[in-house]
Amino acid sequence: MSRFTQHFIYVLLATFVISCSEKKDILDQDSEIEQKISEIIAGMSLQEKVGQTCQITLEVLLKRDSNNNVVEPIRIDTNKINEALIKHKIGSILNVGWHTLDMAQWSSVFNGVHEPYLSNKTSIPIIYGIDAIHGVNYTIGATLFPQEIGLAATWNPELANNFGHITAYETRASGIHWNFSPVLDIARQPLWSRFFETLGEDPYLASVMGESIVDGYQGSDTIDAFHTAACLKHFVGYSAPFSGRDRTPAWIPEKYMHELYLAPFKKSVEAGALTLMINSGDVNGVPGHINYHLLTETLKDEWGFKGFTVSDWEDFIMLETVHKIGSTYKEAIIKGFNAGVDMSMVPLSSYYQQYCELMIESVEEGKISIERLNDAVRRILRVKMAVGLYMDNMNQASQYPEFGNKDYKETAKKSALESITLLKNKNNILPLSNTSKVLVAGPTANNLIYLNGAWTHTWQGADTSFNTNGCKTIYEAIANEVGSENCEFSQGAELYFENGFEQCRLLGDSDFNSKAENSDVIILCLGELPATEKPGDIRSLDLLPAQLELAKIAYATNKPVVLVLTEGRPRVIHDIVDGASAIFQTYLPGDYGGTALSELLFGRQNPSGKLPYTYPKYAGVIEFYDHPRSVDRDKSGQFNAYDPEWNFGFGLSYTTFEYSDLVLSSSEITSNDTLEISVKVKNTGEIAGKEVVQLYLQDKVASLVPAGKRLKCFEKIELKPGEIKTVNFIISIEDLKFATNSGKWIFEPGQFGILIGDQTMEFQLK
Ligand code: BGC
Repeated sequence: MSRFTQHFIYVLLATFVISCSEKKDILDQDSEIEQKISEIIAGMSLQEKVGQTCQITLEVLLKRDSNNNVVEPIRIDTNKINEALIKHKIGSILNVGWHTLDMAQWSSVFNGVHEPYLSNKTSIPIIYGIDAIHGVNYTIGATLFPQEIGLAATWNPELANNFGHITAYETRASGIHWNFSPVLDIARQPLWSRFFETLGEDPYLASVMGESIVDGYQGSDTIDAFHTAACLKHFVGYSAPFSGRDRTPAWIPEKYMHELYLAPFKKSVEAGALTLMINSGDVNGVPGHINYHLLTETLKDEWGFKGFTVSDWEDFIMLETVHKIGSTYKEAIIKGFNAGVDMSMVPLSSYYQQYCELMIESVEEGKISIERLNDAVRRILRVKMAVGLYMDNMNQASQYPEFGNKDYKETAKKSALESITLLKNKNNILPLSNTSKVLVAGPTANNLIYLNGAWTHTWQGADTSFNTNGCKTIYEAIANEVGSENCEFSQGAELYFENGFEQCRLLGDSDFNSKAENSDVIILCLGELPATEKPGDIRSLDLLPAQLELAKIAYATNKPVVLVLTEGRPRVIHDIVDGASAIFQTYLPGDYGGTALSELLFGRQNPSGKLPYTYPKYAGVIEFYDHPRSVDRDKSGQFNAYDPEWNFGFGLSYTTFEYSDLVLSSSEITSNDTLEISVKVKNTGEIAGKEVVQLYLQDKVASLVPAGKRLKCFEKIELKPGEIKTVNFIISIEDLKFATNSGKWIFEPGQFGILIGDQTMEFQLK
């Protein structure tokens, strides 16, 4: 059959499936597509099947000079393509080389990558994956949003969904069908370098926002030419390393594994997410990549996940070299593959040939069954078909006229505006008047890298030469607002890496002091260097001492100081909280974060972001909002372990809101009933504002120590001055359940509390 006829049949099949079904049914095992996949598998050689399970990085395929350096601008090396794709039948490629590419470069990459399939030298198309985690951060001109922690702080699922759609569109415009996002890890270890990549500490908030992102990536009903496959990561427990260092062990009791860590993954799997990436660390002594119980019994058998799982970077190798669960690479491969890993991100050249040989050997020796291999291949082919790879695997940038357009950038700015969180506003010093004379200072004030963080144009995001043209730093945006004649800049301190760890040094205070003297207000920008994974490891949660020192220098000028934090995790700043007149948390707000912040500072917009995590007061005292009441057992309060700087869900506005009239539909329910809850919210201030109405449930007594309270519903509403809105929620028995120590969800009759704002009521479950 010619390639053209084959294409035509797949187009027909896919059109049939897409038009007749919901997204979940695209992966329906009984569909006609499944029969087609069976036929393809029946005709595949062992080498071809193994190749489908292998993923390599783009660098393996690039032309290099005589010193083995990649030749710039990057070009595909046809010999390497022949070796990898034609000889070894590799099925997937990832990444970007080391820096962002423009559309023309992506196009030339894909001409090379898809050529063997399009010219009939291979029979299965390549699936290409990329980390487009806060926008298509590896394509020049794409729209960069806040990092996920900022998206979570918007508490606005619609924005998360818009982010997903726009990112999917721009990913497809770049020629790519698969995005390694969203991160659904629950952030309960603030030292962890990838905290900013998460949707915060709460499983419900992360579930709702995560599902909205997945829906945005994949589209509500179909994966059309403007959507991509999502990849939920990192399954599961990666975010809880005991040491705080990346990829180190976590200990997670089964109860909390179910209540906290698994919940957002389950929700997005149910929503039809097509792929899932595995945790590189080990939990309770079991590396993520050999966890048969989680990968096969829970994910695939119990939850019915029909897509495929992919390992993280080199993780089969790590099973041998780091986790020490096998004495050879081959043993590691066998354990990982049999546990349920479908595709291995091998991904470097020296290993992929070896991976393929060892996989073939293992199947021939019966150590990996052909059924297991066929199942992995089936899952991979299912996703390749679902994303339309059999139909249109060539990049046609001209099909995507909206790439990087103004509306997309406005949405990114809106996301930044709704995320930035006002933590302190003494005597309502904010908003500032735009006739003020302003000193903008601090190490993070005048470079876009501090607004974007890692995974921006490069892996670590620290190379300033790739900064987006035309986007404003915090200093530039404020100078634009008040006029450059009214705006001074003094860096004050410098952040840098030394021996792999962040450092900060003061740059001398004379420039700072003389500029402060001529200013009405100081806007002091402190934060973190962009970094992720191992390079983002830190030694203490405290903000670096020289930055705290700089704040004290600013306070000594007796001018009002507005602290602006640009940080991926909540660095402890307790010593400088009192001295600040106002404090903004911007998280990592992206390319439009400078402009958004300026609009908030000068009152063009009203802040509405709320913390998606508990902000600690002391580096040694870490607790979360849902702590059991035993954490607060000291009546004097002095020895309570929950003593945060700011609560989860906290964030100020320039207006005020009043809650009243909490009403429950019944004071008693049975497990078959639902409970309707309503509450009135009034804007009691003088300007319009947005409020996040948060409903927490408290289980009064249970046979296992209950959470102090847990978020169960929320809604972001907008109110004009004086306006009152009634907000309605519904909860069911599912919301009243908790997990046992063996991970079973149960409910127990008894008394429950509903907490919304300052309103509380109780009801009984019979
Ligand atoms: C990260 C993943 C990422 C992968 C591919 C790994 O090091 O842990 O989150 O998707 O690299 O870039």
